[in-house]
Amino acid sequence: MQVLAVISMPLSLVIFVMYLTIFGLGTWLGSFINKAVYRIPLGLPLLRGRSFCPHCGKPIPFYLRIPALSYFWLRGQCARCQEPIAWRYPAVELFTGLLAVILVYYYNYDFTWDMLWIFAVSCTLLTIALIDHDHCIIPNSLVALLVVLAWVRFYWIPEFDGLSYLVGVIAVSGPMIFFHVAFHGFGLGDVKVAVAAGMLLGFPKVLLAIFVALMTGSLGAIYRLVNQYEETYMPFGPYLSLGIFVALIAGDQIISAYLGLIR
Ligand SMILES: [Zn+2]
Repeated sequence: MQVLAVISMPLSLVIFVMYLTIFGLGTWLGSFINKAVYRIPLGLPLLRGRSFCPHCGKPIPFYLRIPALSYFWLRGQCARCQEPIAWRYPAVELFTGLLAVILVYYYNYDFTWDMLWIFAVSCTLLTIALIDHDHCIIPNSLVALLVVLAWVRFYWIPEFDGLSYLVGVIAVSGPMIFFHVAFHGFGLGDVKVAVAAGMLLGFPKVLLAIFVALMTGSLGAIYRLVNQYEETYMPFGPYLSLGIFVALIAGDQIISAYLGLIR
């Protein structure tokens, strides 16, 4: 028993270091998402050019670019101009780090393609949600990335059911095209994301995604009404992204639980 205790000590340390590394890599990807959210709508290159403060334009030195930590180290201010840094930057970094850790835990340290795929799709959805929230646009490049990710997965899904994905695409994007044309109810970007959602989730999981999107979107609309927002247009991308994320992470469990209820 004592031997086991001795062995288990370093093992827990190894696991701790592994989680810390994954968390670190996740937060680093989160800071890349922040960069993409800022740069894509402005048409700035993503990979070239150093990070700079959006207020004073001064480049941020490498030692102040540690995801999340730098924000707390600088007490939420730019080191040069003292302008406040939006809390969303560290929030996105911490969220992405936590998501990476949760996925690794959920997949039992099994670094499968499925796990990396869910992480990649989630990061793309987060970028879409934030850009749509900030600018009311959904960049085509990001929708194309979702479509490519969906297409790539088709090659390793066991028992690929093409019809489920075809129905998934039509079931949600079809009615949305109608609402877009007839009432301008959805933006064209939303319709494109819905097409990608069908390809990512298939039927019936895509229905869960749109259900979550409409429910949370209604709450968002009520919030805007109560707080008397000036703009009449509400970006739907964040809610759509959230719905796809929920269906992606827990779609199978939620749908089987629901079917168990009505049976
Ligand atoms: Zn500054």
